[in-house]
Amino acid sequence: MSKSKSINPVTGDSIAVYNRMSTQEAITKIETAHAAFKTWKTTTYAERAKLLNKLADVFEKNKEDYAQLATLEMGKTIDQARKEVEKCAWICKHYADNGAELLKDVLVATEASKSYVTYQPLGVILAVMPWNFPFYQAIRFAVPALMAGNTGVLKHASNVQGCAFALEDALLQAGFPEGVFINLNLPSDAMEAVIAHKHIVAVTLTGSAHAGKSVASIAGKHLKKTVLELGGSDAYIIMADADLEAATDLATYGRLQNNGQTCIAAKRFIVLDAIYDDFLKRFTEKMKRAKMGDPTHKDTVYGPLARFDLRDELHKQVEKTIAQGGQLILGGKIPEGKGAYYPATILADLKPSMEAFDEELFGPVASVIRAKTDTEAVALANNSKFGLGAGVITSDKEKGEALALQLEAGNCFVNKLVASDPRLPFGGVKESGYGRELSGDGIKEFVNTKSVWID
Ligand code: NAP
Repeated sequence: MSKSKSINPVTGDSIAVYNRMSTQEAITKIETAHAAFKTWKTTTYAERAKLLNKLADVFEKNKEDYAQLATLEMGKTIDQARKEVEKCAWICKHYADNGAELLKDVLVATEASKSYVTYQPLGVILAVMPWNFPFYQAIRFAVPALMAGNTGVLKHASNVQGCAFALEDALLQAGFPEGVFINLNLPSDAMEAVIAHKHIVAVTLTGSAHAGKSVASIAGKHLKKTVLELGGSDAYIIMADADLEAATDLATYGRLQNNGQTCIAAKRFIVLDAIYDDFLKRFTEKMKRAKMGDPTHKDTVYGPLARFDLRDELHKQVEKTIAQGGQLILGGKIPEGKGAYYPATILADLKPSMEAFDEELFGPVASVIRAKTDTEAVALANNSKFGLGAGVITSDKEKGEALALQLEAGNCFVNKLVASDPRLPFGGVKESGYGRELSGDGIKEFVNTKSVWID
């Protein structure tokens, strides 16, 4: 029987080993989720909201345990792990309070005696999720999907099965009926059989473009809807009038949060010529001062990468960029000792077609790019196959907004790091994916938007 392993990235030691399910066992679970759907879809929004509020209580009650587990399995700092669990509770409460309103019937005036749009659940949704926010990513999918009356099966990343089973258990503790949300501990090569199964009606995947393309092509073959939340190489334009203290604080936090492993992290800093040298100097000082270390320690700013192979891959990307002419300003060396650590690194004077300009670097590595004019800055920001988030830092809010509207990304923020928020839709364009999560747009991704006409 194959197994998935949880390895502590701080030490390289094994934390736990989980038996994989066979495909046949997974199919039995999908049938259970389908049976649960038949009853779950008949429950009222009020009943679902009550359970979501209970789930929020479970997250609040178990916050410390869940945070410790996430830190242990993937290395995020304990403080950020606690915030992740708090955000899960927020999502639950948000949809408990707003789900019914978001999904209420919409009357449409036509020649009919009555015509309207109603939103009905679809069935069992498969969610393929990444390890970087092991609780939040799965909850971001599950809460609106369940509020809409669907049931869900989760194929979580192999290195965070402890979190995956904890999530399944959290829903049971909250009182959700058996089968409404099930964890499938499967390898990614089992996805073909799962997606093909007649009771899987749609798939959502958060992860790399590579995984997204594979899952979407299988789903396409079986004519099943997909939502894809993929990678990004978010550009932040630092305008000449920016407050440099605030801009470099934001850049440092933005690049190091979650140990540099956030899809919407600030990754490419496009800095106007007039302030380029000053920005780089202050940014380098702050990145250098940020403490790398054990994620359970209070004063640690960033911990190790989640896996050793990811650290080694990131280092190769840094080396490739340097070989292509990128300037190494800080970091760029694998530290000695235990743990999948990688130091805060700055690569400067980057140009299109260099690795760190074109590809996503999923770790604490910042790419700094010089722009002569605002127009060139926007063109450089948009010169990317990704389009997830983007930012503008400026003291002129109107100008910031005008530039934000020109950026090719799903989430564009002025003077603030891009962050997901249940009140706003979240998602990307280009190779960052399609479809939206959160808000009213997100909850309507997995429903039958049905037109009803009574003549
Ligand atoms: P990943 O390797 O693509 O893995 C994500 C999930 O997909 C895991 O459950 C993984 O399973 C599975 N998977 C991988 N290859 C697959 C395949 N060929 N077929 C089916 N499933 C497959 O990504 P990651 O390294 O975990 O996460 C980092 C990436 O996710 C980054 O690109 C990041 O930007 C992106 N991300 C995007 C968002 C967003 O909201 N847009 C949020 C977070 C992360 P195994 O673990 O078993 O391989």
